[in-house]
Amino acid sequence: MPRVKSHIKESKRRTGFDLTELHEWIDEFEGRDHREFRHTLTDKDIEKIFNFWEKKKEGLGKVAVEEWLEHIIDDYQDTLEIIRKAKKEWKPRVLKEKERRKSRKKKK
Ligand SMILES: [Zn+2]
Repeated sequence: MPRVKSHIKESKRRTGFDLTELHEWIDEFEGRDHREFRHTLTDKDIEKIFNFWEKKKEGLGKVAVEEWLEHIIDDYQDTLEIIRKAKKEWKPRVLKEKERRKSRKKKK
């Protein structure tokens, strides 16, 4: 998962704005399942982001919504690359955990 700092750096490079508050808000819930929150395209979040940033500066609402999507895409791009690099050995985490539990039971 790209860290908040790299999202901020990329926003700065793309738009001239670092949008630190935006990226910190998106990744507020840390951990391996952090994408269950604020990483899904919803009208509610689009409106919230747009209004918050538009109040700060006219025109920034649209930029912030675009950068929110860039953040989500970057996160998933990162996962895609990990899966591609792993090739055949890769399995979904859920399956690996199930197998681990099964083999632990057998040992008992
Ligand atoms: Zn994220």
